Amino acid sequence: MAYSQFDRVPNHYAGPIIQQVKDFRVAAGKRSLSPTLLEIGQLQVLIPRHFGFCFGVERAIHMAFSTLEQQPERRTFLVSEIIHNPLVNNELKERGIEFIYDAAGKRQVPADELSGDDIALIPAFGTTLQIEESLQQSGIDTSSEEYRENYDTTCPFVSKVWKRGEELGREGYTIIIHGKYKHEETQATHSHTMQHAKTLVVLDRDEAHKVAAFITGDMALADFECAFAGKSSVGFEPARDLERVAVVNQTTMLAEETQEVTRILREAMRVRYGTDDLDHHCADTNDTLCYATNQNQNATRALLDSGADLALIVGGYNSSNTSHLVEICSDVMPSYLIANADEIVSAEQIRHFDIHTRSMVQARDWLPGAVPVRLIITSGASCPDILMNQVLEKIAGFYDYGAADIAAAQLSLFEELS
Ligand code: SF4
Repeated sequence: MAYSQFDRVPNHYAGPIIQQVKDFRVAAGKRSLSPTLLEIGQLQVLIPRHFGFCFGVERAIHMAFSTLEQQPERRTFLVSEIIHNPLVNNELKERGIEFIYDAAGKRQVPADELSGDDIALIPAFGTTLQIEESLQQSGIDTSSEEYRENYDTTCPFVSKVWKRGEELGREGYTIIIHGKYKHEETQATHSHTMQHAKTLVVLDRDEAHKVAAFITGDMALADFECAFAGKSSVGFEPARDLERVAVVNQTTMLAEETQEVTRILREAMRVRYGTDDLDHHCADTNDTLCYATNQNQNATRALLDSGADLALIVGGYNSSNTSHLVEICSDVMPSYLIANADEIVSAEQIRHFDIHTRSMVQARDWLPGAVPVRLIITSGASCPDILMNQVLEKIAGFYDYGAADIAAAQLSLFEELS
């Protein structure tokens, strides 16, 4: 198989126009967060400084495809979706990989169908210790160094969160995990961190305020237990276990929100215990935030005052980091999350995923008819560039721009024009 210039992901995940944009940014040699402006005649497309595959996703894809190439004689399974992108997962399935658990966590391959000769790839967001134990009972030694190196695609930034959670747990802190309780990464982080600390999963600012209210004595125990039922480690006692806390996150959450959760809890500790020794009650954990999530979110924010008519965000509908990009854009302009160009039915009609109702909806008259038009196209950390490329081509077609016009597109840094 041919690989892209980074020798990590298959070439067919690259998109020629998107690659031009990336090459342009490398040549521009600027560290600025300003977007790239791609002008195809009267169609202006703004592409953020950072988008698409992050380091952890590239690494996981590379490990999965390398395994298929190098171990064709062995049965290869994936514990669950390797990343949250249907194109990548479906391609791995077509190549013969079976998923042991589906996206909802339901077991698809019984334990007694696995043997020690099989490979079970662990996805980029890691897995729980319970699932690892089950694999080991089937004879798959996930703990060996060789296994970790070749078949455990857990992103090192996720492992770093687990390690930090372990250290903080040993120091006596309760670990507050800012994440979506059912997300595989949060489940994995919860499972690993629970070995060394009391843990509690907090979804957002609202839930952080509830924890804060309990700390300051403004919420009754019964109300707290009702609000966080099933979201803490076994034997969690709020009065005892919320005396010292440290916040880590599901790496794809809004980094700003994680910082806000910490700020809310720190303030509650200040009210309860005073300013002396505040770090003793609420640890500083800024160093666990994933750089890629931060970069993509900050680069997206840098697009918001660009005067764009709308934003298209390409990615999987169960991708947490992608939905946060939609959240950021939709505060300012009409924003559509689509898995691929097929969701664009016509210049008048688009099918897109509503992140609030978690369902597909149709929008009409979504694309401005009159030129000039300025729109944003970006993608989540698990989205191959080719999907963004196809979206761009389809939209250009609505304004009668073809392959030659796209090839002749002008590229510039948006900041130099504004
Ligand atoms: S978003 Fe960050 S933690 Fe998650 S896979 Fe990518 S680099 Fe790793």
